[in-house]
Order: sequence, then structure tokens, then C-alpha cells
Amino acid sequence: MQSTAPPKTYRVKSFGCQMNVYDGERMAELLAGEGITPAPEGQQADLVVLNTCHIREKAAEKVYSDIGRIVKDWDRADGSSPLIAVAGCVAQAEGEEIMARAPAVKMVVGPQAYHRLPQMIRDASAGRRVTDTDMPAIPKFDALPARRKVGPTAFLTVQEGCDKFCTYCVVPYTRGAEVSRPHAALIDEAKKLVDAGAREITLLGQNVNAWTGDNAAGRKIGLDGLIRELAEIPDLARIRYTTSHPNDMTDGLIAAHGDVEKLMPFLHLPVQAGNDRVLRAMNRSHSVDSYLAILDKVRAVRPDIALSGDFIVGFPGETDTEFEDTLRLVDRVGYAQCFSFKYSPRPGTPAADMPGQIAPEVMDERLQRLQAALNRHQMAFNEASVGRACSVLVERKGKHEGQWLGKSPWLQSVHFTADVAVGDLVPVTLDAAGPNSISASVRSGT
Ligand code: SAM
Ligand code: SF4
Repeated sequence: MQSTAPPKTYRVKSFGCQMNVYDGERMAELLAGEGITPAPEGQQADLVVLNTCHIREKAAEKVYSDIGRIVKDWDRADGSSPLIAVAGCVAQAEGEEIMARAPAVKMVVGPQAYHRLPQMIRDASAGRRVTDTDMPAIPKFDALPARRKVGPTAFLTVQEGCDKFCTYCVVPYTRGAEVSRPHAALIDEAKKLVDAGAREITLLGQNVNAWTGDNAAGRKIGLDGLIRELAEIPDLARIRYTTSHPNDMTDGLIAAHGDVEKLMPFLHLPVQAGNDRVLRAMNRSHSVDSYLAILDKVRAVRPDIALSGDFIVGFPGETDTEFEDTLRLVDRVGYAQCFSFKYSPRPGTPAADMPGQIAPEVMDERLQRLQAALNRHQMAFNEASVGRACSVLVERKGKHEGQWLGKSPWLQSVHFTADVAVGDLVPVTLDAAGPNSISASVRSGT
């Protein structure tokens, strides 16, 4: 393979979950530290990092079509070729296959190894194709540069990996075992994010509420303890966390929803299905009743909590009646917003080999029915918010002159017209609800 000039510009494209978005930001900071700058909008980058997601089949296929498009669009007359790196969970799961199937890919780097990108870029520029899918979780964070300027909302990965082994899911294989980042590193990163302009921090983890660590006094604490300490950072206004697992929803964390003012009234607690047989087959280790009992406890301390979840329809063997149990659960909970997916068999996971794989048209129909119900509840939640007084954290300008967009405490998109700036916490009254956003007017004199 020919050597190429070291890249001067980069583009990082992240697919999938918020943890990938966080990883993408950290990779961008790493590349900036090497003197490589973001490619201007509309221009080709010398180096493209595709930060991939492997959770569903379509997510992985997108990567190959993106690689094809980058190669096809490469129009430099100097005989060079683009420097393409595939990162993220597809890289981890299918690294060898990518190298064989896509000769244009020069680097494959797993989610725990991306701190080594600078050296990989030097090797690839010298003409070598390189793969690094090692899994040393903590050294990655130690090797990353300090956080740079961020917007008013920032992600902070506190925990990675998963030991739960739900039978449909690739995460335990692509992200490895559950690892909590050390307490001191997180407090330090949170302070740096706030110094760099963040007013809201969302703590991230595949099982974020499994986080545990020793505080400065050497005492073991859980996510609730970490949240309480972060709430002491003066300029940090809001704290969120995602994604939680029902089994790690401790009484301490539930109590924090009642008494930590900066912890926003929003809980993303995936249930996946509303039938106990299906939940057992998924190896979810919670039942419908134990899930509902957690929600009751959370509502007891925070009655206005907005609830969110993830659902999978068409898990192998799911009958019509079992699917209807999911619809019943949705009606019982009254979610504010949710993610819902058709089951996608993931190679190497137990469910992929289970009997009773569901026909695509049955999955389509179930997903449509589920999404209709979820949309109805989302609209109802938004309508019930009308008249509420709350603050909105301004994130960006809207489409119309003088219009601004931000989020309510319940994670609703809110738009309003006022003389404000990004990062302001603006007191508003919610005026009119749509399915996906709410309009508001600014409360004066507050
Ligand atoms: N740890 C979280 C939990 O336990 O619920 C979820 C993290 S997972 C990365 C995000 C969501 O992707 C899951 O909640 C599930 O709904 C969905 N998902 C995972 N594997 C899937 C599969 N094979 N097919 C369809 N959806 C899947
Ligand atoms: Fe995947 Fe979440 Fe289950 Fe872990 S707990 S295996 S991340 S769905």
C-alpha cells in the first residue's frame, strides 16, 4: 500500500447511542491535539472516522454504504486516497471482516482503543493497514486530552460495558465487562466541562446506574452519591443520567430524585417487553411487576417525573397475546417518550438461534401499533404540561427570527421567542403542545 501525506483535516461521524456521541467528541479532541482540524462544511476531509453502532443490522450496513460513498466522492487529482477509520462497536465485532470486505478502510479501532488513534494514523499514513480492538477500559480515559470548549449540554461517560447478557444484545461482547470510571476522574472531568461552558451534564453508561466508586474519603458510593457531589458544582445547573437498568435502580438513587434539585425529573428505564415469559427469555432479570414497583417508588418521591423506555417487538417466540401485554404496560405507565425497535438477530447472541423467529411483516405491524400507542402517550404528556412554569436551557437558535430552542426539565423540546443567549436558563410558561415540541412564552419579572 502507498504512503499518503499525514491528514490535515478530519471528520468524525457517530452513529447510534449517546455513548458513541461522547466517544466521537473525545476522538475529535484527540485529533485536534495532533494539529488536525475539522474539515469545513461541504469539503472532503483527509481523514474520516466512522464511529459505528452494531445494535441492529441496519446500523452496521450503513457503515459499508458510507465507506462506498466516501470512496466514490473522492475527487482529488493527486493520486491519493481517503484515510478511512472504522471505530465503534462494528469495528469491535467485525474488524477482520471490514478489513477483508472494504480495502479502502485503513484503520479499525474498537471502542476501548481509540486513544491510540494518533499512532494508528501515523502507521496508516506510512502505508500500513492497522487494527486495534484491545479492551483496556480505564487506560483509554487516562490517555485522552482534557476537555475543550463544549456547548451548554455535555455528556460524561461514567460507566462502560455490561455484564447483564440480555439474550438479544451485542453490548457485552462489543463493549466488554461492566467498568466504572474512578470517582476522582469523573469529578475532575465534570468540573472541566462546566469550566468549558456546560450547564447540564448527562452521565452516560450502558448501565449507568451500576456505577460505583470510592469517594474522596474512601467510602464506596453509588450513582446517587456521585450525583449528590456533582450537584455541589456551583455553575452546573442540571444533571441527567442514561441508560439505567431496572435491577440497578437503588433506593438511594430513587431518593435522589426526590431531594436533589439539580437532578432533572426524567427517567429513562428500558423495560423491553410487557410480558414475563418474554422478559425471562430475554434474560432481563426483572418482571413487569418489579418494574412497575420501581416506577411507583419514583413517582412517590417525584410525582411529575417524565418516564421513558426502550421496547423490542418481535422477540423470538413472542405471540400476539404477549405483544398485547406490552401495549397494556404502555397504557399503564403513560410514557413521556420512548424508543421502540424491531428485534434484530445479532450474530453470536443466544436469541439469534432461538426457535420462533418472527416474520418481518408481523414485526412491522406490531411496531406500528406500539408506536401509535407511544405517540398518543407522548402527546398526552405534552398536553398535560401546558400551563406549567419551568426553566428552559437554551441550546440553539430556531428557524424563525428571534426564536430559540431548548429543553424543559422533562426533556421536551421547547421553542420560544425572546432576547436570550445559548446557555441561558430562561423561566417560561409552556403554552401549546405538539407531538414533538412545545411552544412557550417567557415569564417576566422572575
Ligand atoms: N442497557 C440498556 C438496557 O438494559 O435496557 C440498553 C442499552 S442498548 C445499547 C439500547 C437499546 O437497544 C435496548 O434497550 C434495546 O431496546 C435495543 N436493542 C438492543 N439489542 C437489540 C436487538 N438485537 N434488536 C433490537 N433492539 C435491540
Ligand atoms: Fe444490552 Fe442493556 Fe441488556 Fe446490557 S442490560 S445486555 S446493554 S440491553
